[in-house]
Amino acid sequence: MIHFHQINKHYGSFHVLKDIDLHIKAGEVVVIIGPSGSGKSTLLRCINRLETVTSGELLVNGMKVSDKSTNINKLRQDIGMVFQHFNLYPHMTVLKNIMLAPTKVLGISEKEALDTAMHYLEKVGIPEKANAFPSQLSGGQQQRVAIARGLAMKPKIMLFDEPTSALDPEMVGEVLDVMKSLAREGMTMAVVTHEMGFAREVADRVVFMDQGQIVEEAAPDQFFANPSEERARQFLSRLM
Ligand code: ADP
Ligand code: MG
Repeated sequence: MIHFHQINKHYGSFHVLKDIDLHIKAGEVVVIIGPSGSGKSTLLRCINRLETVTSGELLVNGMKVSDKSTNINKLRQDIGMVFQHFNLYPHMTVLKNIMLAPTKVLGISEKEALDTAMHYLEKVGIPEKANAFPSQLSGGQQQRVAIARGLAMKPKIMLFDEPTSALDPEMVGEVLDVMKSLAREGMTMAVVTHEMGFAREVADRVVFMDQGQIVEEAAPDQFFANPSEERARQFLSRLM
């Protein structure tokens, strides 16, 4: 579903991604960890071309992301993205937030968009908030709305960039639970997170990045029990 072949990216003279090789199959959950500034967000953002790569080949759902001829709208329709800050539209109700892209981008009817929005609101556990405004919701609830909004586009891939980092601790669990059920249902997911419990429980693979490189990639059991790289070892020892 996602293939990075020798991807490099520069911001001006700064080499932010270095020879990235990463392959994510349909239905896989890959958790990306690493120190701040190591390139995790940049790597995610290349997948839906929020960032362009400097060299290498990136294939997503059969599309060549860096090709000029690639239909970026089609590419982005297949990819949902959830950020640290939920980025909901403050002047729209929860329902309208979720219905906006399906009606504007996919052109489906209001009725169908409404049914879809309610379906995903139920899935994330807050159907009773349909007519609330974002400011009336807790951070955890807002993030669940953001996930429902992503799902309403029926994406093939979901990208999560530190989805729980801005939440109060007591709200982290409810968001992780939604992500866990999504993973169990077979969604292809790339998740940047510092939640090692989530990584252990849900990830098919853990990818450890440092200074723009993938330093280590392993199954969670193996990675957490015995990371083979010193940099990964140090990173984990600081977290735990
Ligand atoms: P992470 O998500 O792992 O913290 P990022 O991908 O956000 O890392 O950033 C990696 C590096 O690239 C950092 O040093 C950051 O300062 C730099 N960087 C990120 N975005 C830009 C940008 N738009 N222009 C220049 N440098 C950037
Ligand atoms: Mg980041």
